[in-house]
Amino acid sequence: MKQITLIPGDGIGPEITEAVKTIFAAAKVPVTWEEENAGQTTYTLNGQLIPVSLIASLNKNRIALKGPITTPVGGGFKSINVTLRQMFDLYQNVRPAKSTVGIETPFKHVDIVLFRENTEGLYSGLEFYDERHGIADAIARVTKEGCDKICRAAFEYARKHNRKKVTVVHKANILKLAGSLFINAAKTIAPEYPEITLDDKIIDNMCMQLVNKPEQFDVLVTTNLFGDILSDLCAGLVGGLGVVAGANIGKDMAIFEAVHGSAPDIAGKGIANPTALLRSAIMMLHHIEEHDYANRIEAAMDETFRNREQCTGDLGGKASTMEFAQNVISHLK
Ligand code: NAD
Repeated sequence: MKQITLIPGDGIGPEITEAVKTIFAAAKVPVTWEEENAGQTTYTLNGQLIPVSLIASLNKNRIALKGPITTPVGGGFKSINVTLRQMFDLYQNVRPAKSTVGIETPFKHVDIVLFRENTEGLYSGLEFYDERHGIADAIARVTKEGCDKICRAAFEYARKHNRKKVTVVHKANILKLAGSLFINAAKTIAPEYPEITLDDKIIDNMCMQLVNKPEQFDVLVTTNLFGDILSDLCAGLVGGLGVVAGANIGKDMAIFEAVHGSAPDIAGKGIANPTALLRSAIMMLHHIEEHDYANRIEAAMDETFRNREQCTGDLGGKASTMEFAQNVISHLK
């Protein structure tokens, strides 16, 4: 039995977490959960945004499944998500977006895996406000090491999964130094992977191309902010935030989480789609080499998508969060 740290999170987090736990139990997946929370919930309970017990659990288990955590807009505490990524150097944010039979969107044949640099750029936390002059600075710090690591991860993934093309997304026409550092990292690494084509696109053009002809893209690699925005865009191409998985991966630790947030508008109603977290959990199973369990659950989930009424409301169905979970379980072979 592998022990996994489970962070339910805020808003719809506990509801979708319960659904995933129920499916895992029914599929008899050989994992046990060590539940630890973070954010406003734990702060209210014991004054700790990231409890010491959560850090100890992560350090021990090295693998976690995480629900979304609310971050206050404007003021308040620093994002728990960003803090955890930086604390454990989870420098890769990997977000696959693939068209699925049964999930209808205007786009077909999308199969993109986005690699977002996860610890640097505009999320470095270097923000200053000069009150006297009314000037706010936000510094997008990128390092050569950070660029090298994420570009290498994208190429390694492409090789391992027999992908044909890596597209670097940047703004090096305006951000001459920071943008060039990123694109040059990819260009330097590319010759080591002669079977993979390196392509590059400026971010604004990339957005247009993605909603115009998304099937031309394969693996994408980009900086933190562009990756954050592009991953939601890619989610929109394949059915929305409720269906897209994500992983934060470092050298020897990984936290798997849905791309979406805590969805306060639907929290507590029992109608959230647990697919994004379930798909993240399936990614986690592949990561810990439990491929058979991953494939079995994925097949059952895909069968559920083929029956529209068995899906949640965001996909045009009628099922609640837990009914969706039961429907997946009913298709387990
Ligand atoms: P959101 O992703 O929570 O919601 C955007 C829209 O998508 C909402 O209409 C919501 O109802 C819908 N949605 C999201 N997940 C869904 C699901 N599983 N099923 C059905 N519908 C779903 O984005 P937001 O409203 O901008 O952010 C809310 C909070 O979440 C903020 O505090 C934000 O900082 C936080 N957030 C956290 C993470 C994370 O923990 N990784 C990621 C993004 C946002």
